[in-house]
Amino acid sequence: NRGTYRNFPMVPRVVYGAGSLDQLGDILMPRRKHAEAPVIFLVDDIFENSPLMQRIPAIFEDQIIFISADEEPKTVQVDALRDRIQNDFEYKPSGVVGIGGGTLLDLAKAVALMLNNPGTSAQYQGWDLIRQPGIYHVGIPTLSGTGAEVSRTTVLSGPERKLGINSDYTPFDQVVLDPELTRGVPKDQWFYTGMDCYIHCIESLNGTYLNAFSQSYGEKALSLCHEVFLGDLPETEQQEKLMMASWHGGMSIAYSQVGIAHALSYGLSHVLGIPHGLGNCLVFQHLEPYYSAGVADFMRMMELHQVCLPKGICAGISEGEMDTMIRVAMDMAPLWENALGKEWRSKIDAETLEAIYRKI
Ligand code: NAD
Ligand code: ZN
Repeated sequence: NRGTYRNFPMVPRVVYGAGSLDQLGDILMPRRKHAEAPVIFLVDDIFENSPLMQRIPAIFEDQIIFISADEEPKTVQVDALRDRIQNDFEYKPSGVVGIGGGTLLDLAKAVALMLNNPGTSAQYQGWDLIRQPGIYHVGIPTLSGTGAEVSRTTVLSGPERKLGINSDYTPFDQVVLDPELTRGVPKDQWFYTGMDCYIHCIESLNGTYLNAFSQSYGEKALSLCHEVFLGDLPETEQQEKLMMASWHGGMSIAYSQVGIAHALSYGLSHVLGIPHGLGNCLVFQHLEPYYSAGVADFMRMMELHQVCLPKGICAGISEGEMDTMIRVAMDMAPLWENALGKEWRSKIDAETLEAIYRKI
């Protein structure tokens, strides 16, 4: 299958290790343009007043902005943050650092891009619409699974749709992987976001886009997920392995795509605001016909960790809402093509999707 191959960027610098957060000051120092060009730290507000704040190397004019991850990122939120930063400072910042789960990582990527690109972030939702590199940006995950720390996208809810800003300029310039930061994540959240990674692997490895590049990352991520969610590891090892699973899972989909669970999860998120990880789990439990081995293991993982997914999520929704969910899911053409092949339109229809949604 010769042709033109995509030329993907990767995160050029990464630090890994327990306590590596303490190197952030040294990492940022050479990137500081001058005393009045601040570093902006976007931090999940769960860490406000936590010991982690003492370890953030804010100096000079640097600003720490706490942001709630209760709602996933929106284009209007990104635009407002960009405007606020431009208003507050005479000089363009030296960099943006995002500290948190996928929500904060995506916000940091998007704000860094929008500080160098005019207009609203909504106009860049799509593929390769960004013209200028963003400002220097650093990602520091505190929750493992999304792969947002390695990916080429930042997923935003916009006026029209939930869609990523996919570009060569989106990936972080620097990532700090400190597995200790994921200590203390509530168990259900740990599971849902961890399953995002597991589902990335299943969808990538069972997709028609699979190639040896994706497979090599996907298989590694999947075996790490098995160790974490089906094995009996000490907690620190669990944190370390899930952090690396997330990284490899993200790399695996870089050169392929996700699949059916993600397509349907986007519908749930768009209409009902269901968070990404939970939405994936809600859908995936019903995808036995498509990913039978993956779903069987998923059920074992739920049982082992005594996770109970909410029920009746789609019970009260109107016909109109159901139609919107189906449309949003169906619009994800590359995901369906990856899952079912070029002829996917003849293999899936609105009734099948509705039947899955009705079970949720
Ligand atoms: P999240 O960032 O939304 O956080 C979920 C919850 O966990 C929040 O309440 C948050 O405060 C809390 N939390 C985070 N770290 C914690 C810690 N150390 N201790 C205690 N609580 C903590 O969750 P997520 O699942 O990581 O991210 C979901 C987002 O990621 C969605 O917006 C989704 O669209 C996006 N996403 C992006 C990509 C990408 O490639 N860019 C891929 C998948 C998902
Ligand atoms: Zn995902």
